[in-house]
Amino acid sequence: MSASNQSSPQSATGNGPRNHHSPAIAYCSTCRRNVTTEVQISYSKIAHITCILCIVAGCFFGCCLLPYFSMCFVTAKHYCPDCNTHLASHNSILEALH
Ligand SMILES: [Zn+2]
Repeated sequence: MSASNQSSPQSATGNGPRNHHSPAIAYCSTCRRNVTTEVQISYSKIAHITCILCIVAGCFFGCCLLPYFSMCFVTAKHYCPDCNTHLASHNSILEALH
């Protein structure tokens, strides 16, 4: 018995993890073409304060939460590698609220 089991896998393209902190393909209106963005990670001031608090609190609760808290306040800014135009920015804490 050969059951016609056509379980075609989902398209692999565009099915990866949504990591806005990685370079992505974006359209640059200045260069008028698609470019692979350069990502600059910037930490807000509150991230540093939170880090210090986490280190202090880590004495009591452990440091396992430190990476999570630090990522909450990271902003990834995407720039065009050719003309350095700011194309987009992603804030982790905004994504977490969605
Ligand atoms: Zn450009």
